[in-house]
Order: sequence, then C-alpha cells, then structure tokens
Amino acid sequence: MSQDLAQPMAWKKTKVIVIGAGFGGICMGVQLKRAGIEDFRILERAEEIGGIWHHNTYPGCGCDVPSHLYCLSFEPYVDNMVRYPGQPEILAYLQRVVKKYGLRKHLVTNAAAKTAVYNESSARWTVTTVDGREYRADVIVSAVGQLDKPQIPQFPGAETFQGAAFHTAQWDHDCDLSGRKVAVIGNGSSAAQLLPHVAEKAGHVDVYQRTPNWVIPKPREEFGPLTQAAFKHFPVLQSLYRKEIYLAADLLLTPVIRQGWTHWPIKQLARWHLHHQVIDPDLRARLTPDHAIGCKRITVDSRYLPTFNRENVSLVTEKISRLTPSGIVTESEDGGFHERAADVIIYATGFHASEFLVPMDVLGRRGRNLQQEWAEGAEAYLGIALPGFPNFYLVHGPNTILGHNSNIFMIENQVRFIMRCLQHMPATLEVRSQAMESYRSWMDEAVSKTVWHGCSSWYRNPETGRVTNPWPASTMRYWMLTRLQVLRLSAAFDIKRRS
Ligand code: NAP
Repeated sequence: MSQDLAQPMAWKKTKVIVIGAGFGGICMGVQLKRAGIEDFRILERAEEIGGIWHHNTYPGCGCDVPSHLYCLSFEPYVDNMVRYPGQPEILAYLQRVVKKYGLRKHLVTNAAAKTAVYNESSARWTVTTVDGREYRADVIVSAVGQLDKPQIPQFPGAETFQGAAFHTAQWDHDCDLSGRKVAVIGNGSSAAQLLPHVAEKAGHVDVYQRTPNWVIPKPREEFGPLTQAAFKHFPVLQSLYRKEIYLAADLLLTPVIRQGWTHWPIKQLARWHLHHQVIDPDLRARLTPDHAIGCKRITVDSRYLPTFNRENVSLVTEKISRLTPSGIVTESEDGGFHERAADVIIYATGFHASEFLVPMDVLGRRGRNLQQEWAEGAEAYLGIALPGFPNFYLVHGPNTILGHNSNIFMIENQVRFIMRCLQHMPATLEVRSQAMESYRSWMDEAVSKTVWHGCSSWYRNPETGRVTNPWPASTMRYWMLTRLQVLRLSAAFDIKRRS
C-alpha cells in the first residue's frame, strides 16, 4: 500500500524552514501554501522582505528583464503598462504577493540564520539564528540568493577618506550629491543604471572603469498608447507577450554565451550602439571591450553611454592605486600618479557572489561541512540538492543564475522540483553521489563550451577559477532537466521512508 494511501496527505505535515524572503523564498512560501503545507517559517535577516529588491535602492535601480517575464508565472503585475519594472514596483509586487498568499504570519524578520545542523537520529534540522533563536524542521530550503554580500575592494588608504563612501546595495539616502564631486567605481549593470541619475545631480562624476562592458540598447521603458490599449482590452495579449520575450531571450541570447550564431549580430548591435551614443572617438575607444561578448553579463541600457557626453562626467581608466583623505590616486601606464578629488565614493563593485550561503555554517550527515565541500567552488545537483545533506534544498543554488533570461523562471523550476520532493515526506531524501558526479561531468562539459573562461567576472570563483554561478545552457534545457529528473527521482535520490 502506498504511503499516501496509508497516511493521506502525511507529507503536508512536513515542517519546513525557508531561509531568505527574496523572490526565491517568497515563491517557495507561496507554493507551500498552495500545497496546503502550513507548518513553515521564512527566516529573513533583514527587517523586511524583498532580498536584493529590499537592499538595492540606488537611484535608477530596476530590472532590465521585462516585467511580464520578471514575475511569477501565475501572478502577473497588476499594472503591466510599464515594460521594465523599477525597484519600487518590484518591491511592491513582492509585498502584494506576500499579502495575497498570507505569508506574513510565516515570516520572521531580523532573523539571520547562523547555523543549520542535521541530526541523523531524528532526521531533522536545527537552524540557529545569530541572536540564538532555534528552529527545528524536517526540511530546509535555503533561498539566500547569490548577490547578497556587497563587495568593497580594500584600497590602501580607504580608511583615511574623509567624504561619504558607500556601496550601491547600501545606498546612503542622507547623502546629498547635489553639486558634489562623485567617484563611481565600477561599470557593471548597477553603475550603468545609477550613473545618469547621479550625473544629473552631481557637480562632477568620475567613473572608474577597470574593464569596459558590452552595452546593448534597452527598448523604451513605456509601452506606446496602442500597445497599452491592446493589453488593457485583450489581456491574453499580455501572456502572449510574456511567451514571446521568453522565447526570444532563450533562442537569441543563449547562443551568445557559447559564441553561437547570434553573438556576432549582438556584438555588432553593441558596437553600433556605442558608435551612435558616444560622440568622442577617443572615449568610444576606451569604452570598447576586448573580451568576447557574453563573457561578463551584458549591460542592457540606453541611458548609460550617452552620459559620457556630458561635460560633468569623466571616464577614468587608470588603475586605482590608493585613496587619500580627499580623493582617489590613480597610476597611469607610464608609472605616473595622479590624484582626483572626490567628496563621495560610490562603490558599484558588485558582490561576493561565489561565497554561497556565507556566513552560514551548514553541517549535514556525519558532520559534513558545506563550506568545506565547496572549497573548490560551489556545486549542487541541478543547483538544488547535494549528497550528504538530506532534505536540504537550494533555490538560487550554484550554476542556476541567468544573464540571458528571467531568474524567476529558474526559481519556479527549482521550487516545483522541491515541492515534488516534499511529496515523499515523511522520508529522508538525499542525492546519490553517482548522480552528483554525472551531473558534475555534464556541467563541466557545458561550461567548457561557454565564453566564461575568457575574462574575469563574478561568474567564477576568484580562487579556483571554477564557473559556479550561471546556468550554461538554455532555460528550456533547465525546465526539461528538472521535469525529467523529478519523474525519475528515485534514480538520483536515495529515498528512505519514515513512519
Ligand atoms: P558587477 O557586474 O560585478 O560589476 C562590478 C564592477 O566593479 C565591475 O565593473 C568591476 O570591474 C568593478 N570592480 C570590482 N572590483 C574592482 C576593483 N578592485 N577596482 C576597480 N573596479 C572594480 O556588479 P553590479 O553592477 O552590481 O552587478 C552585479 C549583478 O547584479 C549583475 O551582473 C546582474 O546580474 C545583477 N544586476 C542586474 C540588474 C538588472 O537590471 N537585471 C541590474 C543591476 C545588477 P571588472 O569588470 O574589471 O571586474
């Protein structure tokens, strides 16, 4: 007799701890609720939900994935008349979802998980927060994200700088930039979004660029009146539009990461964009990347490059040597030093993306330490589970993040997979080492075909060079793999039933 018949819906009594209340944790919470599982908590280290969309509040912050796609598939934005969602809209969207699905009562804020320890005899996990609270659960789902730890380079003399200095993910809203000399260090997607806004206010802006990025144009933020009317009167068009942008991204952008058929036209588009947006040829030359397109995340922005035409914006490409009380000293190629004054330094220098789950300590079966297992670089079966850590799942795990489509699509696939695993409860589910090994071989092969080894980026572990963050194939491939593997779950997972 199947366990479900013997104990109808026994799995719905599973006690779950979700760590993180960003998009991933909220999606997990929604699906637990939809499945009728009520015994769960979502622990969030911040004082509010939202994850990166709570922490990143810099001017111009938003998502360059259209809102029709950057949302849960079953929960569109209420007002989808803006093509690209800004940070306030995304945060409001997440708050609405939390309210609609009754997640508030499951939420524990200001609860940073410090340790998660598996007890083999009880087959349960204990999560302890930094302030000593303990939570026990049958299942842990870590949804802490990959871009949660701001990286601030340790420049010599940084402690002597007398002005304001902050990271893009820790924006100081009390710092008035009006008329001031601002230094923006870094030129990734965050810098691109904030620069036009900063340049409008500041007296002068120096952009410190170490490596130029490929930038492609972003379509208009607003839909035209005709499209708005069509979307309003025929809502089905909105779901067709979602499918269209999903397919276009998968079919056109996936080949770019493998230098496939679309990389050349997209590179030409980026070149054309630069040519038409920046007037000065010398400046254009300094803004032209020499690495393969797709090696780093492509910037999608139409306002960034023209900002360099402004009188009050300078591009600085000399290496930063040190900071002084009043500015930044750079070193030129001929060994000369030059100090540029700054009142404010904005670190748009990215995140410690390869430090998955740090600073949490996760101890699995027989005391296996997750961080030690990941010493060469993080990895997980489908980015979701790993041997030695029964009933421990990841959302936003290793090799699952995207630069070429919507991360929410990936999250939904991970959550669907985890929900199917939960249907085996009460049980211990653990990925077999063999399954992990063959997945690792597949992943290594897939990654070896990408351009990601050709430049330095946050996609790679800085110590070992292993590509640990992005998914190396189409998202349809991920959809297929997660669907197929869940159908043959017992082939990949050791499933021990418990009464
Ligand atoms: P990032 O892409 O990692 O860019 C960091 C920048 O800082 C790079 O230009 C890097 O130069 C520079 N940098 C780092 N350390 C430096 C040092 N010691 N000296 C000089 N320059 C240094 O960070 P981000 O812009 O915050 O973006 C992170 C990710 O967030 C993106 O890749 C994207 O996935 C996501 N994001 C998405 C959106 C969106 O619209 N969907 C918007 C913003 C961010 P090098 O290139 O030389 O290393």
